[in-house]
Amino acid sequence: MTNGIIAPSRLAKVEFGPRDAVRYARHLSLPEFGVDGQKRLLASKVLCIGAGGLGSPASLYLAAAGVGTLGIVDCDVVDESNLQRQILHGSADVGRKKVESARERLLDANPRLRVELHDARFDAVNAMSIVESYDLVIDGTDNFPTRYLSNDVCVFLKKPLVFGAISRFDGQVTVFAPHLGAPCYRCLYPEPPRPGTVPNCSEAGVLGVLPGMIGIFQAIEAIKLLTGVGESLLGRLIHFDALKARFRDFHLQKDPACPVCSSSPSINEPVDYVGFCSSQINQSPMSASIPEITVEDLKARIDSKEKFVLLDVREPFEWDIARIDGARLIPLGELSTRLGELNPADEIVVQCKSGGRSARAVEFLLQNGFSRVSNLAGGILAWADQIDPSVERY
Ligand SMILES: [Zn+2]
Repeated sequence: MTNGIIAPSRLAKVEFGPRDAVRYARHLSLPEFGVDGQKRLLASKVLCIGAGGLGSPASLYLAAAGVGTLGIVDCDVVDESNLQRQILHGSADVGRKKVESARERLLDANPRLRVELHDARFDAVNAMSIVESYDLVIDGTDNFPTRYLSNDVCVFLKKPLVFGAISRFDGQVTVFAPHLGAPCYRCLYPEPPRPGTVPNCSEAGVLGVLPGMIGIFQAIEAIKLLTGVGESLLGRLIHFDALKARFRDFHLQKDPACPVCSSSPSINEPVDYVGFCSSQINQSPMSASIPEITVEDLKARIDSKEKFVLLDVREPFEWDIARIDGARLIPLGELSTRLGELNPADEIVVQCKSGGRSARAVEFLLQNGFSRVSNLAGGILAWADQIDPSVERY
């Protein structure tokens, strides 16, 4: 990448005085960056969705680095339990609106910054108008409805989405931008998980420093896209395992049948998943009756050479990272069209990463004439933890 996403015509309007030369001196002495790169940052407008664990470090570093305008979307108030990782906010801010404490901290980091606050829940009604005026979006969301909405709106408006996700000790970062040749989030995960099937950050826990690592990674990717410096993470995903201190790099592919970024998309406007996808609402009555087996049961069945199909419903890139020997891959999004490849008379154990998507697959199979189906509780992560430590965790 050589140009960055800020049109050169916008640089002429950027004021750059002696004080700026002092403040950004360490950027100016980078030959790849220089005054031109700094002006591109100063001209840029970045939207950060969420002022939490990822949004805190990302927005702080972008403010310090000289991004001209930062928009912050958040409707929460600061809770004491946020302070373990959300470094935009301090102890004195508990009970305040996050957007307010964010503005104060960001302006202290860089008084020249223009901060635009969106003190609202990001939803299908306001998402397009909020995102429209920005050059790039940082995904600092911690829930699936907002994540899918951010993705779809960025696809519609052709804005790069710098994606970050964290759970427990692991983090991921990539850049979604179908208009720049990269996939979008739905190319990897076409539909949101069922309510209650995936723990959110507060349920699963997260190492406090981890969002710092991933959020700063997002800030670096944003700066590269804005200035044109270096090689972007477009089409590549970095996975960071804090426990093993390991980075891994995966190639991502666009899905030609993606529901939102393909040539014939089925989703053409913002969708609000809140109401049936919130982690706060209970699981449906159906999910309570889904037959389950444990990883110990599965091991015993494999050891005793029982005849059954182990069906893996994860995505191909996950399959490349780790798999259970003998499993067959049919990603959840393809299950309905590839149902004919399975025999309803067979015993089928369905497996995914942690048991959520596979529960949906079991439910779907039960509704479609399969009766000998069960879900592997805890998925391949439980298998790696309890049965085979040589299987990669991710
Ligand atoms: Zn897509």
